[in-house]
Amino acid sequence: KLYNLVQDLKGSIRVYCRVRPFFPGQPNHLSSVENIEDGTITVNIPSKNGKGRKSSFNFNKVFGPSASQAEVFLDMKPLIRSVLDGFNVCIFAYGQTGSGKTYTMTGPKEITEKSQGVNYRALSDLFLIADQRRDTFHYEVSVQMIEIYNEQVRDLLVTDGTNKRYPFTTVVSALTKRKQVLIMMLSLMIDTLEIRSSSQKGLSVPDASLVHVSSTIDVIEIMNLGQRNRAVGATALNDRSSRSHSCLTVHVHGRDLTSGTILRGCMHLVDLAGSERVDKSEATGDRLKEAQHINKSLSALGDVIASLAQKNSHVPYRNSKLTQLLQDSLGGQAKTLMFVHISPESDAIGETISTLKFAERVA
Ligand code: ADP
Ligand code: MG
Repeated sequence: KLYNLVQDLKGSIRVYCRVRPFFPGQPNHLSSVENIEDGTITVNIPSKNGKGRKSSFNFNKVFGPSASQAEVFLDMKPLIRSVLDGFNVCIFAYGQTGSGKTYTMTGPKEITEKSQGVNYRALSDLFLIADQRRDTFHYEVSVQMIEIYNEQVRDLLVTDGTNKRYPFTTVVSALTKRKQVLIMMLSLMIDTLEIRSSSQKGLSVPDASLVHVSSTIDVIEIMNLGQRNRAVGATALNDRSSRSHSCLTVHVHGRDLTSGTILRGCMHLVDLAGSERVDKSEATGDRLKEAQHINKSLSALGDVIASLAQKNSHVPYRNSKLTQLLQDSLGGQAKTLMFVHISPESDAIGETISTLKFAERVA
């Protein structure tokens, strides 16, 4: 009990790993994953002489390809409870495109109750626990959903088409590349939101829509709106969701009914941009710029978490929009879960190793 208390006070960083199953019909004899046991994953690294070697990595938890959404969420439940107790929580999904980040956080394309991801489950759990405590606490829950693309912050919960960029898209596609880029830059300037550290209401993006939610039905509606807005953005040039970070932030305001004490907790659920390295010789223009921004922000995130894990006195929050945004929820008494994702195919081994190394560094 005392140990738990100490854990609570000093905050914590945990690292989980999840391996995506092969797709139906895909031959699965070419797996890079040799073994999963408790918190250890062992992968096969091919070598030139054809023999290959094995390498093992340790985590707080490793989920194999057959782990269900419910099983995965079970291990996150204590985090949900701590948000209602007034702590800040960050959950990150990290990994190369196609490794299952969105599956874990949101679910598959067609979401059923069984395949719902962490976002839905976290909010339903939040409502459930809040209800169990209704005789002693009054809770208010509200959410924001933003996207960070090329170090620009965009509101994903706009309902009135104020995203000025989109009406342009059809016209834009008829213009020259140079003019397209100009218009894109201008429109980005229009709807880029500012990040502030410690605004009065405790919001780091005070200008992004803040939507009050009181049931899982509200949540599903909000999530759909966010997904739709993300998809609209994608038509501008091409699919963008894998190259932007999306962040669902849940703000919880609790009032102790007897003492009147106010508790504030907040939870960030972050679906990170794909971590794959882009071949510099192939990528040009926009694609190269995107890759550089992603690279920069993911390594800034790694630097922040690693320096927190090592208890360094200086934590480099200022190096990216993502770490600025989450500054109040990383470190101190906050709890962080880095959830890394791995594709099982043996030809993804290069990215798999780099993901495992990233995770090892922040653990
Ligand atoms: P990412 O967001 O990392 O790019 P996705 O979550 O979109 O990856 O996953 C890629 C594909 O694999 C999707 O079709 C998704 O539904 C499927 N998938 C990912 N993880 C799982 C899983 N654990 N079980 C079943 N299907 C999965
Ligand atoms: Mg995704």
